Amino acid sequence: MSIALYPGTFDPVTYGHIDILKRTCDLFEKIIVTVAINPSKTPLFSVEERLGFLRESLSGINNIEIACFDGLVVDFARKSGAAAILRGLRAISDFEYEFQMALMNHKLDSEIRTLFMMPNEKYTYLNSSIIRNLAQFHSDVSEFVPPCVQTALIEKFSTK
Ligand code: ADP
Repeated sequence: MSIALYPGTFDPVTYGHIDILKRTCDLFEKIIVTVAINPSKTPLFSVEERLGFLRESLSGINNIEIACFDGLVVDFARKSGAAAILRGLRAISDFEYEFQMALMNHKLDSEIRTLFMMPNEKYTYLNSSIIRNLAQFHSDVSEFVPPCVQTALIEKFSTK
């Protein structure tokens, strides 16, 4: 079975992430979208919340599985039987970090390949941290994130 792993922080998931998945889902029998539990980051949303957004917004794609993991991506990929790690590439800014990660992951396990996918150009400037900043100042983010995420952002930053 051809399996790919799509790891990320997804804090929160955006239409950019979803675009990458839609472009890739028919290349693999299964894609495991995995929320990385990274103790050095302080995410806005808990792991459970991020998993919930992914479940809700990806329910229309039937070969997608949602999971979370801590530790090394290559270890989780090996354990899951994934042959590829999927990453999105937006602009030059992503390249250096992604290049380093891909080479290091190749060093750790040369059987697991990294696959880069470009999003539709309308998502090339989009990332989760911009969304968090916009939402903090009550900007409308409905163009960029699924409705469940939009609702949660409004709730999170509401001045009750
Ligand atoms: P990370 O914290 O590892 O960058 P993210 O959750 O932000 O995790 O992203 C996971 C993956 O999705 C990364 O490969 C990232 O480059 C990609 N990605 C995020 N936003 C977009 C976007 N708008 N278009 C394409 N790829 C994206």
